[in-house]
Amino acid sequence: MSSTASASVVHLDSRRDDPAITSLRTTFARMHTASRAEPPPSIGERKARLDALEKVIRANQAAIAEACNADFGSRSRHETLMADLFPTLASLQHTRKHLSSWSKPRRVGVHWAFQPGTAKVVPQPLGVVGIIAPWNYPVQLALSPLVAALAAGNRAILKPSELTPRTSELLATLMTQAFDPTVVAVAQGGVEVAEAFSRLAFDHILFTGSTRVGAIVMKAAAEHLTPVTLELGGKSPAVVHDSFPLDLAAERIMSGKLLNAGQTCIAPDSVLVPKGKSEAFVDACKAQVAKTRPTLADNPDYTAIVNDRQYVRLQQWLDDARNKGAKVVEINPANEAFAADKHKLPPTLVLGATEDMILLQEEIFGPILPVLEHDGTDDAIAYINARPRPLALYYFDRDSARVQQVTQRTTSGGVTINDTILHIAQENLPFGGVGPAGMGAYHGQRGFDTFSHLKGVFHQSRLNGAFLMNPPYGARLEKLISILT
Ligand code: NAD
Repeated sequence: MSSTASASVVHLDSRRDDPAITSLRTTFARMHTASRAEPPPSIGERKARLDALEKVIRANQAAIAEACNADFGSRSRHETLMADLFPTLASLQHTRKHLSSWSKPRRVGVHWAFQPGTAKVVPQPLGVVGIIAPWNYPVQLALSPLVAALAAGNRAILKPSELTPRTSELLATLMTQAFDPTVVAVAQGGVEVAEAFSRLAFDHILFTGSTRVGAIVMKAAAEHLTPVTLELGGKSPAVVHDSFPLDLAAERIMSGKLLNAGQTCIAPDSVLVPKGKSEAFVDACKAQVAKTRPTLADNPDYTAIVNDRQYVRLQQWLDDARNKGAKVVEINPANEAFAADKHKLPPTLVLGATEDMILLQEEIFGPILPVLEHDGTDDAIAYINARPRPLALYYFDRDSARVQQVTQRTTSGGVTINDTILHIAQENLPFGGVGPAGMGAYHGQRGFDTFSHLKGVFHQSRLNGAFLMNPPYGARLEKLISILT
């Protein structure tokens, strides 16, 4: 793997005809030409690329945590380690371990009429892929897809978020250190750049971000019939059954909710507790926060809201709920004052939320949790099924029959039972949304397959070959088909 000059970093400003957009197109064209001219990388070359990626990440963990911290105003270093770096390194290790077996042709059965011919599915690199990432986990959501793309033998251009500029700049520098510019490049810039990016004739685009922008990217990609994987947002409810210990549910729901201050695509977005249990649930959440984050305002392990726009949005949605009659409970164990310019928002529970409130209509993406009540498992299932399909679903119950009922009768991108978030950490589970929460999936072998063309190859045997019959067709063909079917 060669170290290279800055050619792999494409800096673009906001004008559509800017020379830098031309430069992005040039980078793409070079990659495209190379992908068609050169043989696909061997498994050894792909492993060397994964090694180069791992090396540059490991050597820069502190710098990455610092860049994230600067971008968020305050981003827990531990959360960067746990939720950005660990998943990326875990996916690297899992992928390297299984790469040889995933890459092998997959022999499949052949109908007896075509035997002894053989058939196999041959994974092939797609060519050049585009990866568009959001700001909330700016490292994991750019680099985990990259791991899968490189493992599958592709070249890739990353488009990290303009809302985390220091991390994006650092990623660009690190990719330049690790890769030849015709293998991995980084395009930095705002919406105009992102638009130009999604109009390139990539062989595949993996987009992670909002449902609104996902639709725009899919439309742009359609121009070239570029296939897309869309990892989008949505509302992810948690449901607690009456028989499940409420304290334990509150502990696990608050852990998932307060990670990255709720700025997590699969954070629990609302909770449905058994009828009459809202106040007890609030008390359990208060106890949980007091135990884990006795202070919040200057606590380096309580992440800030990423910018003023998001902070103001969350305040407005709380005002909307208050004005429409909801009870808003701020959890503030040390009774601290929160300076607006620091963008720290205390965990906030909302009781009595109604459908006309924005909090129940839009993805919350912050440390605010509406607490609703259900009247049993059927009622909770009906609530979920009456709304757009969730990205994630959390169900707390130890009765396996009811667990099975909930997982069978609801459709969501993924599910964690008796906890939150953790299905995303399982490399052997596909991760992706369904309906408005996305299409396609990645992680583990599913990621490798997403970035591969799974080519069907039939190999005719010397001993067969009579099946495709030539005209004039007649009774012989008809008889043969009646025997075969
Ligand atoms: P966003 O959609 O605003 O931006 C995501 C990326 O798209 C950025 O890189 C941005 O530059 C780019 N972009 C913006 N406008 C574009 C356009 N017109 N054409 C092409 N690209 C464009 O999302 P965000 O605010 O960065 O992230 C938050 C959203 O992402 C939430 O909805 C969250 O649920 C979702 N998300 C989903 C997952 C998942 O895995 N499903 C993970 C993290 C975040």
